[in-house]
Amino acid sequence: MPGGLRDLFRKPGGRAAQHPHFLEIVVARTGHPARTFRLNLDTLKKVSAALGAVAFVWFAGTFYVAYSHLSNQEAIARAGQQAERIALLESSNERLAEEKQNVDQSLLSLRERVERLAARVHGLVGRAESEYPVERSVRPQGGMAIPLDADEASELMQSEMASFDERLDRLLPELERSLARELARPVGIPVAGEQDISSRYGVRGNPFGRGREFHNGVDFVLDIGTPVLATGPGVVEAAGHEGPNGNRVAINHGFGYRSVYAHLSKVQVKPGDEVKRGQVVGLSGNTGRSSGPHLHYTLYYQGKTIDPDRYLKPH
Ligand SMILES: [Zn+2]
Repeated sequence: MPGGLRDLFRKPGGRAAQHPHFLEIVVARTGHPARTFRLNLDTLKKVSAALGAVAFVWFAGTFYVAYSHLSNQEAIARAGQQAERIALLESSNERLAEEKQNVDQSLLSLRERVERLAARVHGLVGRAESEYPVERSVRPQGGMAIPLDADEASELMQSEMASFDERLDRLLPELERSLARELARPVGIPVAGEQDISSRYGVRGNPFGRGREFHNGVDFVLDIGTPVLATGPGVVEAAGHEGPNGNRVAINHGFGYRSVYAHLSKVQVKPGDEVKRGQVVGLSGNTGRSSGPHLHYTLYYQGKTIDPDRYLKPH
């Protein structure tokens, strides 16, 4: 900026500051009188300052409005995102609640099924034990209360799922053992078809004389030479002549059961043979202490004779 012009806007010092400052512009043209324009510099500065202030306020205002607008837009966008997330959370909450309910119901249903299974196994084992003199076994305890509250049920389920495994671990061997015993137990009659029984298990009159005696088996009336069948799978323990029994075959079925077939005319197995249910072990006869051709059939459980009667009819 030229020095002269700068001087125009410089605030005068000393006495000059107390007087107004003017800028005089003289316009002279040939053939015309000169014209003088006078500008009050103080006024000009005031006007400039006012215009500057107005410009600043306008700029600040515009900036503020624009900023506010952007902020609002951002806030609206954030609110929209939050609303979406809330909606997602709510729907997933509902889904989770539904799933939890389904899981609770599945667990309740599973437990009821396990309980029913346990009851059935216990019932079967209990019936077998009451019908047949089998050894006592440790029986799992049942009878849990059914919780009504789903949360309680869920918590209870988690703690009980482990015990289900434990219960099944105890139930299944018991069931398997029970089934194996059922398969091994000597059942049915030791001859084919229906046969007359001349003497049952229990006290009876002495067939050879006076008085009474204990008859430890069942006598089937048979023609000599009738095939005699094993009533259950097992291993032949004894085969041959033995005093009053005559020729006899003894089979060990396991689980404490043994069967003996006496008074045979012929023995067709030897000790150590494995036999199947229904396999011919000999032919009926009249050997030993026998008053006529018949088969004497004895069942033992844990070393003691039992009444074969309820074993004679297969289930
Ligand atoms: Zn007899």
